[in-house]
Amino acid sequence: MDFHLTDDQQMVVDLARRVARARVAPRAAAIDEEGVYPEDIFQLFKEAGLLGLAVPEEYGGMGMGTLGLVLAVEEVAKYCCASGLILLLTRLPLAPIMLAGTEEQKQKYARGIAEGRVRGAFGLTEPDCGSDAAAIRTTAVRRGDHYVLNGTKRFISGTTVADFFTIAAKTDPAAGSRGLSLLVVEKGTTGLSLGKQENKMGVRGVPVTEIIMEDCRVPAENLLGQENQGFKTVMHTLNSLRPVVASRGIGLAEGALQYGIDYARERKAFGQPVIEFQGLQWMIADLAIAIEASRLLTYRAAQFVDEGKYTREYAHFLSMAKTMATDTAVRVATDALQLLGGNGYMKEYPMERFYRDAKQLQIVEGINQIQRNIIARSIIDRHLHW
Ligand SMILES: Cc1cc2nc3c(=O)[nH]c(=O)nc-3n(C[C@H](O)[C@H](O)[C@H](O)COP(=O)(O)OP(=O)(O)OC[C@H]3O[C@@H](n4cnc5c(N)ncnc54)[C@H](O)[C@@H]3O)c2cc1C
Repeated sequence: MDFHLTDDQQMVVDLARRVARARVAPRAAAIDEEGVYPEDIFQLFKEAGLLGLAVPEEYGGMGMGTLGLVLAVEEVAKYCCASGLILLLTRLPLAPIMLAGTEEQKQKYARGIAEGRVRGAFGLTEPDCGSDAAAIRTTAVRRGDHYVLNGTKRFISGTTVADFFTIAAKTDPAAGSRGLSLLVVEKGTTGLSLGKQENKMGVRGVPVTEIIMEDCRVPAENLLGQENQGFKTVMHTLNSLRPVVASRGIGLAEGALQYGIDYARERKAFGQPVIEFQGLQWMIADLAIAIEASRLLTYRAAQFVDEGKYTREYAHFLSMAKTMATDTAVRVATDALQLLGGNGYMKEYPMERFYRDAKQLQIVEGINQIQRNIIARSIIDRHLHW
């Protein structure tokens, strides 16, 4: 067991830290306030070479794997959770393509993402179902050399700037999870449009919208893998992304706690800096313990994914990282806001933004109740031990 980062991994941390401190941090409040996708941050990541971190070298990326992406996202999310999501989105819609796509599809989309030429969005959730992914209603019917898609996706991140959409649809609606397929739908496809944009509580720099498909004609070669085999790919995609969602939580928690500590050093009450009160020190210690435990779980989970261990046998370890890190993010954001007293509640300070952003992480990419189901079932049914 090695707890040290390699030289290359440390370089990723240093690079992301530099970029995040100098260029992302000063923009974070305005990104939240404006609620508009920050194109300048995307271009910044492109120039810094961060978009291809998790893309294998043979597709033009840096080949740093999930752990490399996790390290970078953590640094960025210390200041801006929405910007961390921009990095995560270099992976989420691409993962099904890397898992099930043809060599041609991988070359096209992975290379495009690494070079910052294309962006994607991942469309699974629908108005009538989120957690119950097998219940989706969007259909894809084969007609000659095309599939015709009909249905609506809801709450999809990154759609407003996406060039392609990885869409889950039913090719055999009567077959439940065994009738689900994945297709790549390109922007501009006939019958594809974006619907309602949500007015979100947090992570406001990355808008979520509906994706509406009305007799949307997609070339048959855009199918990913085999027809009706998509459910497994969806699960492997979500499993392999758990550490990346977790790293958004860890970064946010670290950023919030650091801000709270800095504030508490300066703020005086009863004749001393408030940081001298033991009640606050113990709170800080407990938060630091939770953050460090989350980091260890998350780095190990990322290493598992990079070793190909994102299948069912390992799912509980990946879910533990996501749950622990995102629950910790909410806890730290709540308590670190408390360190600022009344100021923590005011828009002039970043704590209420951390607090709003953190909440999203417990919900997305597998709500934490579902994570606990995965963990419990693995432990109970398969008698897993350590
Ligand atoms: C900001 C944001 C961005 C998002 N981005 C994307 C995206 O890019 N792509 C995408 O496809 N989706 C996206 N989503 C959707 C997200 O993945 C879903 O919201 C999430 O999976 C939960 O589904 P739901 O909202 O339908 O809740 P539901 O599934 O309706 O859950 C409602 C409640 O029931 C509980 N529950 C449901 N099933 C169980 C169970 N078996 N056991 C215990 N409790 C249960 C849930 O925990 C929750 O408390 C996004 C959501 C948000 C808020």
